[in-house]
Amino acid sequence: QERNPGQPEFLQAVAEVMESIWPYIAEHPRYAEHGLLDRLLEPERAILFRVSWVDDKGEVRVNRGYRIQHSSAIGPYKGGIRFHPSVNLSILKFLAFEQTFKNALTTLPMGGGKGGSDFDPKGRSPGEVMRFCQAFVSELYRHIGSDTDVPAGDIGVGGREVGFMAGMVKKLSNRADCVFTGKGLPFGGSLIRPEATGYGTVYFAEEMLRHTGRSIEGLRVAVSGSGNVAQYAVEKAMACGARVVTVSDSGGTAIDEDGFTPEKLAVLMEVKNHLYGRVRDYAERVGARFVAGVRPWRVPVDVALPCATQNELDADDAAALVKQGVVCVAEGANMPSTAEAVKVFESAGVLYAPGKASNAGGVATSGLEMSQNAMRLSWTREEVDARLQEIMRGIHHACLQYGRRADGSVSYVDGANVAGFVKVADAMLAQGVV
Ligand code: NDP
Repeated sequence: QERNPGQPEFLQAVAEVMESIWPYIAEHPRYAEHGLLDRLLEPERAILFRVSWVDDKGEVRVNRGYRIQHSSAIGPYKGGIRFHPSVNLSILKFLAFEQTFKNALTTLPMGGGKGGSDFDPKGRSPGEVMRFCQAFVSELYRHIGSDTDVPAGDIGVGGREVGFMAGMVKKLSNRADCVFTGKGLPFGGSLIRPEATGYGTVYFAEEMLRHTGRSIEGLRVAVSGSGNVAQYAVEKAMACGARVVTVSDSGGTAIDEDGFTPEKLAVLMEVKNHLYGRVRDYAERVGARFVAGVRPWRVPVDVALPCATQNELDADDAAALVKQGVVCVAEGANMPSTAEAVKVFESAGVLYAPGKASNAGGVATSGLEMSQNAMRLSWTREEVDARLQEIMRGIHHACLQYGRRADGSVSYVDGANVAGFVKVADAMLAQGVV
């Protein structure tokens, strides 16, 4: 705490992992040697830089840019770039820390990193967004590379922004590899990458339900958020026969008792991805009820998929969901449930998957994009989707292996944390004190 003042999100993420791995380390004391834990809590490198750019009125704007290169123990740093006014060192350090364990869980050779800026893309013209992206990577490009650090998208950074950044990196580096994942299909992107985080979250929920003899088919599902992860979580949940009754954004929640249809999802995608509009606009267009200023967690559902942002579901929300009979919670976002909310779910026996397990499909598919780029090949949709499903099954299996409690039930929190930790720690021990 003294080493990281004013970094509550980072401390929250560290506390959650430490609580899980401590009993394991007590049984396997070699992991307490060689300063392993102290080293694991300290990012290998944290880069902070000025981003100056000119807005449409000709005024100079200054934002802050970051890249946290947390761990390269098992491969090049890998993790997204977030553009949101809330971005700060604490949030990016928590995300890079989580990413390190998540990437280990995918079984692919990727270290952990995260970056971003406090730039707010809302209300900015396409020209302003492009100039900001170019200014941002004109510093970042010297720190990244396909064998060093491979960024991708996150909140506020979708295909359009990745394209702008990749294009500028190509120009500056005189290399065609463009470094980023989540690229457009014509220049090295992978099929299924846009869908992967949302699909993977639903695949993981299905695995948890299947393990207890159930299925998502016919269940009521609440999704929060309405961005990349939320949209494809809605799509896959619908395809699996679930009834999705909510989506949201920071303005409020759309509640639709009739459930989503492919036609309604197309409207949501049009509003969010092309018009850069709000969930309120979407609700108006499809005739759903919009409730301003509330989150989706008071709507009775069987399955909750938080897909917006960190700490968007607190202990009261969790208690309300439990009271209404929720059986499964799979996180599409990173750390959307507060530590207290997680305790409520776990003590009520809800199947609860932390983001580092259930949303790992996105980065896993980024790993598959890197493989395709390295081989100069493109796999089909079916091929990538099959690999994604196999990876999500593998993560579920790892959680069972490391998360089984004495009474036979499973803590997916402990399972994911310990499984990720063991892989990273073994690599660090093998590589000596560096
Ligand atoms: P998008 O920018 O596409 O969508 C973000 C959504 O979350 C929007 O609906 C946004 O609403 C909402 N949101 C963001 N910040 C807040 C906030 N402070 N309060 C309330 N709502 C908020 O991002 P993604 O879908 O890509 O990311 C969503 C989550 O998933 C993040 O936690 C991200 O780290 C995680 N994730 C993403 C992956 C990916 O592949 N994209 C991979 C793994 C995890 P509004 O428009 O009102 O801000």
